[in-house]
Amino acid sequence: VNREALTNARVLTRTGFAEGTAVLIEEGRIAALLPAGAAALRGCPQRDLNGALLLPGFVDVQVNGGGGLLFNDAPTVDGIRRIGAAHRRFGTTSFLPTLISDDLEVVREALLAVNEAIAAGVEGVVGIHIEGPFINAERKGAHDAAHLRILDDAAADLLSSLRGGTTLLTLAPEKADPVILERLCAAGVVLAAGHTNGSFADIARARTHGLRGFTHLFNAMSPLTAREPGVVGAALDDAESWCGIIVDGLHVDPVVLRIALRAKRHDRFMLVTDAMPCVGSTATTFVLQGRTVHVKDGACRDEEGTLAGTALDMAQAVRNAVRLLGLELVEAIRMASQYPAEFLGRGAELGSIAPGYRANLVLCDEQLKVLETWIDGRSSR
Ligand SMILES: [Zn+2]
Repeated sequence: VNREALTNARVLTRTGFAEGTAVLIEEGRIAALLPAGAAALRGCPQRDLNGALLLPGFVDVQVNGGGGLLFNDAPTVDGIRRIGAAHRRFGTTSFLPTLISDDLEVVREALLAVNEAIAAGVEGVVGIHIEGPFINAERKGAHDAAHLRILDDAAADLLSSLRGGTTLLTLAPEKADPVILERLCAAGVVLAAGHTNGSFADIARARTHGLRGFTHLFNAMSPLTAREPGVVGAALDDAESWCGIIVDGLHVDPVVLRIALRAKRHDRFMLVTDAMPCVGSTATTFVLQGRTVHVKDGACRDEEGTLAGTALDMAQAVRNAVRLLGLELVEAIRMASQYPAEFLGRGAELGSIAPGYRANLVLCDEQLKVLETWIDGRSSR
């Protein structure tokens, strides 16, 4: 049996930070949390982690790119591997490569590549996020209007074709047939509203047909106004749905996010990076569907000045959530691990340090600088 005990760390467990607790890993899973001197650890190889923070590996449901690559341009097994490696350096041990609106042929290639990557055991990839092309042109943001289309049965077949992981679909519910939404849900596809100009009523209706969450809350959606709560109002009024938030200090004013956090239970928020190729790369420009995007002062903007994703990594998102939103560190970390795992319906295997979970871990110093990661028990060292 392949066993290792990680000792002398401050371990973030389901109930908070624990000291003097050893994490026993067996065959890629967390076998037990034990007192450091426990008899069960005798004869087991041990690693002393020098008092650093041992956290659940981060789960990022929105990763457009990294390491100089955009998933739309590299919908291949190797592209997924390289994007995952770029984000792993910042503590992400599970991610959904995210395809922005593109031709259905590219969607097909991306799904095939993720299928193949998961089957081949590519580290970190746990599914795919397809963001568009079934969105509303009025809220397209940096998406190319030329790719937008209506969700029909043939597209639903394609979207239901992932075998080994989770498919997250961001769509504009007001543009979708409820029968197709239900069909996708029944096939296990997780549905989120995004790039949507829907009304409160549109969203309330879609919730009854399986809509589960909201993609980058506040950005590219109808706002909360006095007589029309919009998509934002629908997201905040509904206690159960999940909201992805981009905490880069640019996409949403921190005041606005603090108000949102007071409106709704915290375990329904998840940090996302919405990362672009510049994360884990020194490049200061990249090309997004034929348009040049400049990376300056931490912002990615196209030639018109529209924000096009972020230069954010997950460790920075957690630090920002503490610094800009006033969240407790433990809560910020859970928004980057446990809560997104639960959103994906995978909260029993990902996002926590507890017996039975996959041994996906991140070791950090007090400033949340990532020192080492483990994916299914395999160290990055
Ligand atoms: Zn978007």
